[in-house]
Amino acid sequence: MVRLNEVRKGERAVTLPAQTDAGVYFIGTIRTPWSDRLTCPRQGRADGPICRIELAPPWNQGLDSIAQFKRLEVLYWLHESRRDLTMQSPRNDGAVRGTFSLRTPARPNPIGTSIVELVKVEGPVLFVRGLDCLDGTPLIDVKPDRTLFQPIAPAQAGDFQVGDGQVGDGGNRT
Ligand code: SAM
Repeated sequence: MVRLNEVRKGERAVTLPAQTDAGVYFIGTIRTPWSDRLTCPRQGRADGPICRIELAPPWNQGLDSIAQFKRLEVLYWLHESRRDLTMQSPRNDGAVRGTFSLRTPARPNPIGTSIVELVKVEGPVLFVRGLDCLDGTPLIDVKPDRTLFQPIAPAQAGDFQVGDGQVGDGGNRT
């Protein structure tokens, strides 16, 4: 069931901290066919409609070289979401689960992510398939899909490190 802004039976809302810890720059706007949450897809589909990602100046220069990637990872700010729920009832039936066990848009930092197919690039606009957000959703970031991307900078020590260390011991075993 799509949430608007209600708190459902069994859900838990907390008081949000007085201030945030960091700021983000909205680098553009996403244009989709969906103007309300009731008609938006839950998750984007590879065969979904072509949507536009419009980069704003001064960030549009950052699209240089992006056309070589077939798939991109897109991060966006689900700006109409409430941010104070720790327990949620996705079916609105009283059964609740923790926010971080869900891909719900209602989360402390309402960041949505999708892997999209890049159809074409026209100036500051990316045409993509695979989105699931409202028309006008603010854009936070665009990156090549990590399964297609080879790091361009030289390798560093951590790239060769295997998993027998523990966090906090600097990777050393005595
Ligand atoms: N694919 C992303 C993810 O997994 O991080 C988002 C998934 S979220 C379940 C998608 C739902 O968020 C949509 O069905 C819609 O109900 C809601 N939604 C989409 N755009 C939104 C926005 N700008 N603000 C608040 N909710 C939004």
